[in-house]
Amino acid sequence: MKLFRKGSKGKGVKDIQAKLALLGYNFGPTGVDGAFGDCTDMVVKQFQQDRGLIVDGIVGEDTWRELVEATYRLGERLLYLKIPYLRGDDVKQLQKWLNRLGFSTGAVDGIYGFSTEKALMEFQKNVGISPDGILGSSTLDAFHNLRKILHADFKVAFPWEEKIEPVSSISVFKDLVVVVDFGHGYPPDPGAIGPSGLKESEICEDLGLRFGNLLELLGAKVVYTRQQGHYLNLSKRAALANKIEANIFLSFHLNGSSNSKAEGTSTYYFAAGDQFSKEGKNLAYAIHEELLSSLERSDDRVHGRNFAVLRETKMPAALMEPVFITNIEEEKLLKDENFRQKIAIAVFDGVKKFLGIRS
Ligand SMILES: [Zn+2]
Repeated sequence: MKLFRKGSKGKGVKDIQAKLALLGYNFGPTGVDGAFGDCTDMVVKQFQQDRGLIVDGIVGEDTWRELVEATYRLGERLLYLKIPYLRGDDVKQLQKWLNRLGFSTGAVDGIYGFSTEKALMEFQKNVGISPDGILGSSTLDAFHNLRKILHADFKVAFPWEEKIEPVSSISVFKDLVVVVDFGHGYPPDPGAIGPSGLKESEICEDLGLRFGNLLELLGAKVVYTRQQGHYLNLSKRAALANKIEANIFLSFHLNGSSNSKAEGTSTYYFAAGDQFSKEGKNLAYAIHEELLSSLERSDDRVHGRNFAVLRETKMPAALMEPVFITNIEEEKLLKDENFRQKIAIAVFDGVKKFLGIRS
């Protein structure tokens, strides 16, 4: 390429200045004027110094490539493993996030290689999206969701947020033990079955795992009452939570009815006669509000019920039935993984609200 140095003029110089300005370098009163004078010479040298290049004030191939890489912002292009490797500050930013979240990329070198791909795929698995190793809009949304739901407790440098703070500020989650209960268990108990054959027990596993992954990402301890594809009796589920002295117990279910028109969101806490769990009620209401506003299904209310898992657990406990699996429309929604992730995030938001963590 053409070399640009002190004395050069024109559009090429203007491009260089514009890129440097975008990176925060200051050209003083002359601004981006297309003239490579003393000021531009100083700025170019500073840039070369900052990026570990030879400091000669000349914009040749190396400095130009570095300028291009430095100005990539996350979301401006797809990031994935290809040869030659993609390089740039967007990759560097991604690597920083992944490392902060505990998915090691190795060196933060701005090069999208195998270890970065592996870390990104681990992240994708953890937030419940298919691990394709591509940073496109859905994965970027997952980061965005994470930022939205965690806000003050989780400071990560997103492009739309400049300050970087250490991950240690999420310590509230570090001491949290949450028991996640997948309703039913097939075989032998599939729970309610949708018009096209979707099993409540299996969707509950998916929802519970998505929710648990969000919590684990923040360092909370998550214990599942049963494995996928197994059944466990209700008292044993409660006993497990009591034994490990969990802080919160959450049971994932879906509603079912012989009336195929029945639809909507309901949430439960323990109540029997004039006894009820005050904390459980608070937890159920916090979750219910989030489910309602996020899913926008009809409000089937919060109810006190004498369910075994709610009665026998000693910690705040709630049972969710976010939608009816027996309703054609709601069963269809459940087949969409974005909808299932939405449920997980809403429950998570509710738990956060219950814990008094502002978002
Ligand atoms: Zn159920």
